[in-house]
Amino acid sequence: MTKRDYYEILGVAKSASQDDIKKAYRKLALKYHPDRNPDNKEAEEKFKEAAEAYEVLSDAQKRKKYDQYGHSGLEGMGGFSSQDVNMDDIFEQFGDIFSSMFGGSAGGGRGKRRGAPAGPTPKRGHDLAKDISISLKDAFEGTKQEISYYHFVPCETCKGKGSEEGTVHQACQTCHGSGQQTFQQGFFAFSQTCSSCMGEGFIITSPCKTCGGQTRIQKLEKITATIPRGIFDGAELRIGGKGDAGVFGGSAGDLYLRVHVMPDKKFTRIGDNLECNILLTYPQLVFGAQVEIESIDGSKETIKIPKGCPVGERIVLAKKGFYRVHSNFRGDLVVITQCHIPKKLSSEAQDLLKKYSEDIGTSTENHDEGTIKGFFKKFLG
Ligand SMILES: [Zn+2]
Ligand SMILES: [Zn+2]
Repeated sequence: MTKRDYYEILGVAKSASQDDIKKAYRKLALKYHPDRNPDNKEAEEKFKEAAEAYEVLSDAQKRKKYDQYGHSGLEGMGGFSSQDVNMDDIFEQFGDIFSSMFGGSAGGGRGKRRGAPAGPTPKRGHDLAKDISISLKDAFEGTKQEISYYHFVPCETCKGKGSEEGTVHQACQTCHGSGQQTFQQGFFAFSQTCSSCMGEGFIITSPCKTCGGQTRIQKLEKITATIPRGIFDGAELRIGGKGDAGVFGGSAGDLYLRVHVMPDKKFTRIGDNLECNILLTYPQLVFGAQVEIESIDGSKETIKIPKGCPVGERIVLAKKGFYRVHSNFRGDLVVITQCHIPKKLSSEAQDLLKKYSEDIGTSTENHDEGTIKGFFKKFLG
């Protein structure tokens, strides 16, 4: 397998400073963090790859070797390669980066760390995502939406301990709390995840009856989300702490609401502007007019159509468009003129229009039907 260039992996220049490298790595680590990409093999590989690149480029000596000799220059220098690295090693090595990223819960909580005292490690709950649909009017004005969803909430019976009241967890007797079992086979010693405690290092002897020792239970919850005015299609709203509850007292994940804004029949959004068409009669376009329109929120606006206004003219009502989210900046309302062409006219109106047409010297004879009928008439004799 050919290895990718470490600078390329982190997306930084060869001349990048330590600070740039750290920043780039943090960005990637956040993006591909396993807590955000549960069961995503590709994200895990990317995560490991970034960690390997960072491990080398953050070390001045290793970076120098790598710059000089490439990947082969690092052989025998220790460190890890993404092919054989264990996720927990990454969290162990770069704990400082993760702890600052996840507000103190080191590594976002990733199982047992080697050498840590036996006992439950608090783990952060997963982030959850939910799609919601709102109308363009709701996006314009802002709205509240009730959301029902299943998620884990902390078990109130055991208060996040997992054990029945009066009992405590015990260090695993098989692995003595390490979470690993070592076997000897001839000359070789190998270790694997402890089968008694599944690598946790502890055993709950009397699990809480409510949660079965999981410290949390799944529950259907209803919340009311506030959708700010100006929200755009595809936006993600984060509701802190409303994802899955953590286990053993770990912090809760967040709930992400993906907002879909449904198209409106009359209005469209272009950037911060609200746009709509207005149908005018030919005389209105010729002579100019003052007309009232109703905006998407029901508010009335008076529009002045200038004399000799062409079709497709954009009449701008400044600061009557969308508000930007969490800001007082406002786009415009743009009204685009269209000409209403009547299908039916009174005979009086027809005469006047024909007269007008003759006056300006245009032809209004409709030859189409006549020609074809005439042709067949002639043809058929
Ligand atoms: Zn419980
Ligand atoms: Zn064990």
